[in-house]
Amino acid sequence: MSFSQLGLSKALLRAVEEQGYTTPTPIQKQAIPIILSKKDVLAGAQTGTGKTAGFTLPLLQRLSQSPKKQGKAQVRALVLTPTRELAAQVGESIATYGKYLPFKSTVIFGGVGIRPQINTLKRGVDIVVATPGRLLDHVEQKTLDLSHIEFLILDEADRMLDMGFIHDIKKILALLPKHRQNLLFSATFSNEIKKLADRLLNSPTLIEVARRNTSAESIKQTIHPVDRERKRELLSHLINEGKWKQVLVFTRTKHGANRLSTQLEKDGITAAAIHGNKSQSARTKALANFKDGGIRVLVATDIAARGIDIDQLPHVVNFELPNISEDYVHRIGRTGRAGNEGEALSLVCVDEEKLLKDIEKLIKRPIPKVRVKGFTPDPSIKAEPIQNRSQSHRNRNGGGNRNSKNSEKSSEGKSRNRPRSNSSRSRSDQSKPRQTSHRRG
Ligand code: AMP
Repeated sequence: MSFSQLGLSKALLRAVEEQGYTTPTPIQKQAIPIILSKKDVLAGAQTGTGKTAGFTLPLLQRLSQSPKKQGKAQVRALVLTPTRELAAQVGESIATYGKYLPFKSTVIFGGVGIRPQINTLKRGVDIVVATPGRLLDHVEQKTLDLSHIEFLILDEADRMLDMGFIHDIKKILALLPKHRQNLLFSATFSNEIKKLADRLLNSPTLIEVARRNTSAESIKQTIHPVDRERKRELLSHLINEGKWKQVLVFTRTKHGANRLSTQLEKDGITAAAIHGNKSQSARTKALANFKDGGIRVLVATDIAARGIDIDQLPHVVNFELPNISEDYVHRIGRTGRAGNEGEALSLVCVDEEKLLKDIEKLIKRPIPKVRVKGFTPDPSIKAEPIQNRSQSHRNRNGGGNRNSKNSEKSSEGKSRNRPRSNSSRSRSDQSKPRQTSHRRG
């Protein structure tokens, strides 16, 4: 099947062709015709499936089919994403695919100045891609009017809930006109997601591409058992031996990401860390350096890595297994994208046996264990409890759902769960991340 059989307009087909895409991915094949038929959609698709084009293309077409009212552009479509990176990536997709269409779009997130965003909104935009907190800031400051929204898309909805955005989402929903088309994309379907879908969607069509909570078939997964203290040494060894040019490495904490990136640099391997404590410009710069091949290793925490879109990322390494099994699926989804082969390696020490079992249960298969010569674990080393520096944060902040999240989540998302005696204050806190107490932790 080709894109032209999906009912897309010439302007869109031309933009798709320029990207070099010839065949729609399974999610695109299914979602595009349904969205064009004006139906609500509940889509189970993890990152790497081509989901962004799966909703962006038909959204643009729907917008062009129902022409805007005369006068200044009103915001007609809203895409909500959990993270800044994902918002930026969706924004780029809209610009790419909408190249030959007259729509204006903008991306709105915290951690950067609000003024330029206000100026852009003043000039009039048709499509807004936003993270929930900063969006509500604009609504409160009356710099954004959501009363003309015709299309609402929640991207990576499971992650938004994990990050404690449910209250903000409810607030946003209350501001939207009743009559609109809704699309909800989520990699996993918890009960909370089902509840949100019930509230939000109108007789939705369910689309699912990969089986729930299973990892993409094109990704080769391997466990390398190793001692806790020898992980960094093993990672350097693998990078050097394999002559890897580009590898995304996950750590559990922000501190761990910084430390590992510094250690790799000492080993002569160019590296940078990205996480929620870094400024937006530092994150953007690190990502750009990584994409250009200026650095070989990008060390990231789970949240920071969401939305990172790098074509054909060949290697993903779990330096530490995530506390939440679903995060494993999200992490390894960064490789093997859109049909390319990918390799996901996990360096697992004796402390992480339980985490590994949980992951294997989730993906419904054992992951092959391969011992690396010279790195066989010392059987006399006993398991120790895993240190999650986040624990104290969560307790201070009043927790939220799914309490076993790591510190990264509390820094970017759980701030939404703080007691809100003055809600606008707490949102502007988020937009100036360095000033909040828990950001410093
Ligand atoms: P996504 O799941 O939306 O994050 O997309 C994953 C990657 O697949 C992105 O790098 C897209 O540019 C790419 N992609 C999207 N659609 C196609 C397609 N039909 N053919 C090849 N690559 C695609």
